[in-house]
Amino acid sequence: MKNIINKKRIPVSKPSLIGSEKDYVLECMDSTWISSNGKYIELFEKKFAEYIGVKHAISCCNGTTALHVALLALGIGPGDEIIIPTLTYVATANAVKYTGAVPVFADSELDTWNIDPEKIEPLITEKTKAIIAVPLYGHPCDMDPIITIAKKHGLFLIEDAAEALGTKYKNKYCGSIANISTFSFYGNKTITTGEGGMVVTDDDSMAAKLRLLKGQGMDPQRRYWFPVIGYNYRMTNIEAAIGFGQLENINLFLEKRRLIAEWYFKCLKGIRGVSLPIEKDYAVHSYWMYSILIEEEFGISRDELMEQLEKYGIETRPVFYPMHIMPVYKEDSQELRNAEEIAAKGINLPTFYELEKEDVEYVAGVLKELCR
Ligand SMILES: *Cc1c(COP(=O)(O)O)cnc(C)c1O
Repeated sequence: MKNIINKKRIPVSKPSLIGSEKDYVLECMDSTWISSNGKYIELFEKKFAEYIGVKHAISCCNGTTALHVALLALGIGPGDEIIIPTLTYVATANAVKYTGAVPVFADSELDTWNIDPEKIEPLITEKTKAIIAVPLYGHPCDMDPIITIAKKHGLFLIEDAAEALGTKYKNKYCGSIANISTFSFYGNKTITTGEGGMVVTDDDSMAAKLRLLKGQGMDPQRRYWFPVIGYNYRMTNIEAAIGFGQLENINLFLEKRRLIAEWYFKCLKGIRGVSLPIEKDYAVHSYWMYSILIEEEFGISRDELMEQLEKYGIETRPVFYPMHIMPVYKEDSQELRNAEEIAAKGINLPTFYELEKEDVEYVAGVLKELCR
């Protein structure tokens, strides 16, 4: 085993600032346009909307605030219930909570790890106002059945596509399907602005509401006139400059992620007790993370495996805990078995642009060694 010990540590994720990001940031500095006005805000929003194929993209200071204003723009507030997958990053549930509405948790599909459309309808009550679909780790949700349910019950559909930039559902980009969709540009996301987010929609009046809400509620026609209580959720020109530079390389980033996934599939195939991710017929997976399940047959537990991998210089992450077991969200003794199983067995392997084939081979080699 010693002979395969790696010299360098492999992180689970790492941003790649390989384009014009630095030049654009320096331009902000030199011109002193470093706050939330400046040309890169508009350039980034416009290019982002074009990429996703929507009319409007509205930048925010992070993905959580993007979700918050999306919910507010739809009029969601106290007394409302919002159905979300229990298996998601905490931001989805928190944003619902900020509005005063209640997140209602749905179980996941065992194969895609996403919200199970069949588990949604039984959760609908008179208070239900919206469903949030979360394409987890880059695999799209099965949107058609979710849209059917939303239409049937008169519910809004939001897509929290933070982890699914470049993911496609039936040839349409995630973010172009729901009433409103949101993205995150945190440091480990497919493109980053340091901290940042985006709300996208095709609806003109919704877009105007979103701009109002994220810009402190100031009337666009009348300075210092505030018709609603808004928020300062603005992105800075510097962040947008980074984002604009990142977006110029989006196809390069996505191609590399799919190549990394190909390497993983090839190297991990056949290791006992390792279940590999799937890609449904309707999906183009963006592999924000290459995620696997460690089954009992592997011989050591998921957590023990992660500790061992760390010793070999390989950083990994466990899959999110489901929200329904979080003390702050826990209610009664709700059991959502699929999500619990995925959360107990799942790990994210290193997935980032600069990862090389020999890194993937090394990870696979160590996994083979550790399998008992
Ligand atoms: C990253 C992420 C967000 C938003 O996170 P921020 O850190 O606020 O940008 C929201 N939902 C999901 C599923 C995410 O992965």
